[in-house]
Amino acid sequence: MRATELYAPTLRESPAEAELLSHKLMFRAGLIRKAAGGMYTYLPLAWRTMKKIMQIIREEMDAAGGQELMMPITQPAEIWRESGRWAVYGPEMMRLKDRHGREFCLGPTHEEMITTLVRGEVRSYKQLPLMLYQMQNKYRDEIRPRFGLMRSREFVMKDLYSFDKDVDGMNISYQKMYDAYTKIFTRCGLKFRAVEADNGAIGGGHSHEFTVLAPSGESNIAYCESCDYAASDEKAELKIIRAEVEEMKPLEKISTPNAHTIELVKNYLGVPIEKTIKAVAFQDDDGKLILAFVRGDHEVNEIKVLNATGALHLHMAEESAINAVGGSAGFMSPIGLKDGAAIVVDATVMEMYNAVAGANEADAHFINVNPRRDFDAAKIIVADIRMVQAGDPCPHCGAELKMTRGIEVGQVFTLGSKYSKSLNATFLDESGKETYFEMGCYGIGVGRTMAAAIEQNNDADGIIWTRAIAPFEVVVVPVNAKDAAQLEYAEKIYDELKAAGVDVLLDDRKERAGVKFKDCDLIGYPLRVTVSPKTLDSGNVEVKIRKSGEMLNFNRAECVDKVLDLLKNL
Ligand code: ATP
Ligand code: MG
Repeated sequence: MRATELYAPTLRESPAEAELLSHKLMFRAGLIRKAAGGMYTYLPLAWRTMKKIMQIIREEMDAAGGQELMMPITQPAEIWRESGRWAVYGPEMMRLKDRHGREFCLGPTHEEMITTLVRGEVRSYKQLPLMLYQMQNKYRDEIRPRFGLMRSREFVMKDLYSFDKDVDGMNISYQKMYDAYTKIFTRCGLKFRAVEADNGAIGGGHSHEFTVLAPSGESNIAYCESCDYAASDEKAELKIIRAEVEEMKPLEKISTPNAHTIELVKNYLGVPIEKTIKAVAFQDDDGKLILAFVRGDHEVNEIKVLNATGALHLHMAEESAINAVGGSAGFMSPIGLKDGAAIVVDATVMEMYNAVAGANEADAHFINVNPRRDFDAAKIIVADIRMVQAGDPCPHCGAELKMTRGIEVGQVFTLGSKYSKSLNATFLDESGKETYFEMGCYGIGVGRTMAAAIEQNNDADGIIWTRAIAPFEVVVVPVNAKDAAQLEYAEKIYDELKAAGVDVLLDDRKERAGVKFKDCDLIGYPLRVTVSPKTLDSGNVEVKIRKSGEMLNFNRAECVDKVLDLLKNL
């Protein structure tokens, strides 16, 4: 392709609203333009890259046994009502009506669609396992669309759904997808971790998020360098920390005027923070009080509290709800509360000796609290409910965990029979019995993957693509395209590279060399081949490696082979 025919409008400035580097670079390099909040046009350069990412995904999905199909984006409300999700999906779902007043949504995901597709048609265990996937636009009316393609409202997703005859089969499908995702993100040249994730509302089973490591990411990840353990901060399992055994002293109530925070209590009493017990009070959707207790220096992990209590959402508690069970905000403990609250105590708290906790009345605390002795075991739930911190021991090998940030580019889930049950999708097993499918679902955000690649690979001059997903692998630049001899020389190299199977662009624009070089760096082609007046004299072609900035000189005769060699490592 010739640059004079390419629609790639580059800009000096990025829009004021663009906070993230990848967002700015995509604007400036002529990759995307905004149509509305969270809605973007992918210009030809971006679309070339996205098609390459989709091709990598397609090859790996097919190799793992997937079959591509295409379902409608517009989905009838009835199937969502049947699964029960029409009501629970909330304002993130984009809804519309047709001329007859029938309700539809623009698919945020396709579990309902695929399950109602196979039900009734896939009747025998002999037709399983089955893996079906598509790549298409998804719609989610995100509350805060931002960061360009990272969190948009219309985005391209690959979604695959697996159907198996039993849980073992489902786990095999899951592993196949896990392996395929590992290959996909490796081929895209990304540094990533497969992170153990919470399956949120879906519940049960396993889930991993494939997360590209980048400080700008929205996910917090705990990971271990001694083994391959990695988990989202919401999910990271934590070992119980056992305090040194002490002789249990008698429980005592003391006055602690105004000491309504852990900081104030610890300073007032002069005790180490590890000796204090902290309370966080929530209410669930029905207003039921949920009290969570962790060690003073730990933080409550709300997802773990949801999982431990079965609540759907947590809201900060009203003072009246706290008072109703005989508590006092800022001075809470499980000791002596009236019934009515769900009390969740972190497992580490249960191993403390002679600790400090609230006395359930204003300006008073208990000292010498020994949870094993003083908490009413029948009235509390003991669970791991704390948030991981850097330095916590790895649950697999015990080494110290580190924290980093990342961008979730894909997620794999086992769904079990959640959707086959709610949508009544069965097949006949070996013994002729009606059986629910065991399912899995597996998504990759194509635009987010492209943005994450830019976030991870860039410098002050612009984007640095890896060869596999670069819009063009090589750009050939005649320094002065007005000079017919130079242009002709460059065209020959361009033709030879094309004949050798290279995805190459000829920058035949009659711009100043400086402008063209700047654009090449900004757009980030892995290799630039430059033809200058010197080339014509000496027969030497200059090749610039975008990633390292290295400039190499090759003899004209060998330059195509050298470019092919260099590409192998980019
Ligand atoms: P997030 O937690 O970031 O909102 P999610 O967990 O809801 O994402 P999934 O339902 O797992 O997303 O969707 C599969 C993939 O689709 C994600 O891993 C991500 O790459 C992509 N994706 C999800 N939401 C968006 C969005 N708003 N914009 C762009 N890509 C998205
Ligand atoms: Mg996800």
